[in-house]
Amino acid sequence: MALRNILKEGDEQLYKHCRPVTDFNERLHTLLDDMAETMNDAEGVGLAAPQVGILRRAVIVLETNVGEDEEPYVIELINPELLETSGEQEGPEGCLSVPGVYGWVARPDYAKVRAQDRNGDHFEVEGHGLTARAFCHELEHLEGHLFLERADHIMTDEELEEYYASEENA
Ligand code: ZN
Repeated sequence: MALRNILKEGDEQLYKHCRPVTDFNERLHTLLDDMAETMNDAEGVGLAAPQVGILRRAVIVLETNVGEDEEPYVIELINPELLETSGEQEGPEGCLSVPGVYGWVARPDYAKVRAQDRNGDHFEVEGHGLTARAFCHELEHLEGHLFLERADHIMTDEELEEYYASEENA
């Protein structure tokens, strides 16, 4: 496994439509392993292939809604499609391609995705809360969109501090 360079806002690769994955081979597996290592290193909860310069429909999301004695785990989504969403959540959202910037973004509170795994087998997966937010965010990367387009506004440091203080007291 190896760390890959995360492209930053402004890089033209981030604004392109990505093509489907057709070969479920060693090369894809290496890409997915590298993406996981890169995401963990950057302490993110999601990463899309175009963020590391590969214009293919592959993303990973860290599932953090786990039991107390369980570790968060990586969900790999190849050629993902959003099947269903419901509810709404609003809150700060960021992106490893736009470091240090958080926008106030409304997203569904639930999302169901159909995708293929690294061997090409189809499956469906549901996400709630942060995971639903990450599914929506990462899938949009595959269409060449960044969360900044969806942000109501970019949050100031003061707003972020206030938000997290109120969360802690909730
Ligand atoms: Zn992102």
